[in-house]
Amino acid sequence: MKKESEKKKKARAAAITAALRARYPTAECALEYGGDPWRLLVMGRLSAQCTDARVNTVCRTLFSVYPDCNAMAEADLPTLERLVYSCGVYKVKAANIRDFSVMLRDCYAGCVPDTMEALLTLPGVGRKIANLILGDVYHKPAIVADTHCIRISCRLGLCEKRDPVHVEKTLTPLISPEESADFCHRLVWFGREICTARAPRCGECPLRAGGLCPSAHVADD
Ligand code: SF4
Repeated sequence: MKKESEKKKKARAAAITAALRARYPTAECALEYGGDPWRLLVMGRLSAQCTDARVNTVCRTLFSVYPDCNAMAEADLPTLERLVYSCGVYKVKAANIRDFSVMLRDCYAGCVPDTMEALLTLPGVGRKIANLILGDVYHKPAIVADTHCIRISCRLGLCEKRDPVHVEKTLTPLISPEESADFCHRLVWFGREICTARAPRCGECPLRAGGLCPSAHVADD
């Protein structure tokens, strides 16, 4: 099959972005963090290998016990571990959340930093969570390469490898900077509703109808 030129791929990415915007106009973050950057950081860390729905449930109790960065910095670790147990990998997640809260309190006056470099110095924070913060909180260009983004980008032929850094770097020049954070939120909703992991519903997919997905016939098998 003839390789798609970068120009054509960029035009297709713009059409995909527009189709997803039309289907999911509000593009809300699936994590219910109430606009508090520190809460989004905590929820982002808990969401690794866990569903957003479970994180939302767990955090209702968690934030009633530890409502902010200062309270979490003083958290009793066994209590914290018990509260986040059902999110999995709970010992590491609990330690990370307490440790980065201490660091935010002591080094950043309790504020979540607004650069990739600074965010990556926080315990347990990788590029995915950092991009979530940059996009959602600071409205900077950000590709959040989560499981939905990786799977769907590969099916759409926008990316070739299921590697988060590859996906982030490949999508960055393809998706308009103003749209990138919302684009990733829309992929989450789209990945749950239509382009699901096990049985994508290609027959009702707006991207198939527009001829925008080269994997449609494969995914139908
Ligand atoms: S056509 Fe199928 S594989 Fe392609 S994006 Fe739509 S649901 Fe996913």
